[in-house]
Amino acid sequence: PARPHRVLVQPSSTARCSHKHNPSIRVMQWNILAQALGEGKDRFICCPLEALNWNERKYLILEEILTYRPDILCLQEVDHYYDTFQPIMASLGYCGSFLAKPWSPCLDVEQNNGPDGCALFYRQSRFNLLTTAHLRLSAMMLPTNQVAIVQTFRCQMTGRWLCVAVTHLKARSGWERLRSAQGADLLQSLRDITSQGPNQNQDVPNTIPVVVCGDFNAEPSEDVYRRFSSSPLGLTSAYRLLSSDGQSEPAYTTWKIRPSGESCGTLDYIWYTHGALSVEKLLDIPTEEQIGPGRLPSYHYPSDHLSLLCDISFREEPHRLM
Ligand code: NDP
Ligand code: CA
Repeated sequence: PARPHRVLVQPSSTARCSHKHNPSIRVMQWNILAQALGEGKDRFICCPLEALNWNERKYLILEEILTYRPDILCLQEVDHYYDTFQPIMASLGYCGSFLAKPWSPCLDVEQNNGPDGCALFYRQSRFNLLTTAHLRLSAMMLPTNQVAIVQTFRCQMTGRWLCVAVTHLKARSGWERLRSAQGADLLQSLRDITSQGPNQNQDVPNTIPVVVCGDFNAEPSEDVYRRFSSSPLGLTSAYRLLSSDGQSEPAYTTWKIRPSGESCGTLDYIWYTHGALSVEKLLDIPTEEQIGPGRLPSYHYPSDHLSLLCDISFREEPHRLM
């Protein structure tokens, strides 16, 4: 059967900033479901085990990536980086970076393929890499089992700088305070990294625009969401723009059925500096009917999380308008 089609939507409230010399940057965020966790830990009771067979599932993941051809690709739960994503993405012109979780739960699964972690890919024809930071997130000064990759780039077309981060915060209920502390730690690192902007000796704002992609494992009601939306970095969650009022997150980014019950919620986000960047298009969220009664993953959807995708462009710099 045909795969459900997702439409790229232009949010009503946004003015277009992209043009020939300032083309938009396509960003994809996706928790692709670690192979070892999907087969060995998750217990998705409505998903046939054959739908999780890696030798087929990997093509569904790659098909989705190649359908949209993002310029920046941020992934979580990657436990096939070196044998699959790194070589395939390299052959397509991407450069990648991988950071494993210190104690990946994949390692508890028999016949695992190594630890899972976060991966960040960028299209080499569009960006020059400036810096890379591999972070182990802390909470109240203590190191945790969660990580982030932060890279800064120079956009070849515009000369503008961009900072991109990918992370996967601690899962499960009861860990809200840990997630909030991990978010605070990541925000502090982002402030440190972006305060060294390109305009060192000029009389202009000196911070690098930021895009943060992640599986935050947190609903919008959680403290870590509030921290991100009120940080001094001036971040907004891109997918709010998909709602009619521009203020609400989608109803879900993950939807699965485990023995403990059905779990449907919004845990994944693309944050961006709204003063410096503009979201021009967003990939819509499949409807309940498109997802189907067995929920995720399935033969149609290779992960229990949906991919998020948006086109982002640089706003005109204030000093260039004067
Ligand atoms: P998390 O609680 O953050 O979850 C890890 C993964 O489990 C996530 O990818 C998450 O997916 C998934 N998950 C969430 N809910 C469920 C569920 N109900 N059933 C199955 N999977 C679920 O894990 P940690 O990083 O804190 O690591 C926990 C594990 O790591 C421990 O079980 C242990 O095996 C190991 N560990 C070992 C240590 C050691 O010293 N040896 C130290 C620390 C951890 P999603 O994000 O999509 O929800
Ligand atoms: Ca998972």
